[in-house]
Amino acid sequence: MTVGRIHSVESMGLVDGPGIRTVVFLQGCRLRCRYCHNPDTWSMENHKALELRPQELVDRLVRFKPYYGAEGGVTFSGGEPLLQPEFLAQTLRLCQKAGIHTCLDTAGCGLGSYEGILDHTDLVLLDVKHYTPEGYERITGQSMEAFEGFWQATQRKGTPLWVRHVVVPGLTDSREHLEGLEHYLKTWKHIQRVELLPYHTLGVHKYQTMGIPYPLEGVPAMEEGKLEDWNRRLNEVCCRTMTQIRKEREL
Ligand code: SF4
Repeated sequence: MTVGRIHSVESMGLVDGPGIRTVVFLQGCRLRCRYCHNPDTWSMENHKALELRPQELVDRLVRFKPYYGAEGGVTFSGGEPLLQPEFLAQTLRLCQKAGIHTCLDTAGCGLGSYEGILDHTDLVLLDVKHYTPEGYERITGQSMEAFEGFWQATQRKGTPLWVRHVVVPGLTDSREHLEGLEHYLKTWKHIQRVELLPYHTLGVHKYQTMGIPYPLEGVPAMEEGKLEDWNRRLNEVCCRTMTQIRKEREL
């Protein structure tokens, strides 16, 4: 029987997809992003994780449905939600059956064969760590191969994408880097929105609690206003309307 390992559930999320959303954080991640602020989700073995079957979780989520309004719904995040593919696919399907909009917040580093998941995903928030294999490995400690497999699956499926990219001072904030990102994303289909996310230091205390060194020690948080122009530019150049996405799917 499929059981999911859930790190935590946030009932009124406002930043992980459209509208008001319940955010379900699943346990487990194979990447080790240098700026990760959720190192407590990395291990699949967290003894504090909640264990639920798909229907048990959906029964809980349905209770929040009146708050979702026309736009909101449920977002599955992590960790990396793709590491629990069976549980994720079944839960997404049950959510859609219950009339709940489904969103997947992922770095795209899963185990392959994503069809069953994307069949029941209305929107993917795809965290693009870097656009070159070298840069990707420098930031995450892993090869870019798994990410590319997932990205290609979203392109085949025509899943609408909100692309997210964390901008770190001294690492990914140069003009050259952001132009490279623009160039990369321009070749993608089905992007609805691009969100450049300013690096912050809110999760650093977790490293201290867990007794592990923080890789970006001393790097200051990114000033939010600095990204406004780039955010506007990338959205103008790379995004499509939902009508255009539907047409792209038909081609
Ligand atoms: S993918 Fe997310 S959870 Fe995993 S290491 Fe990177 S930032 Fe952390």
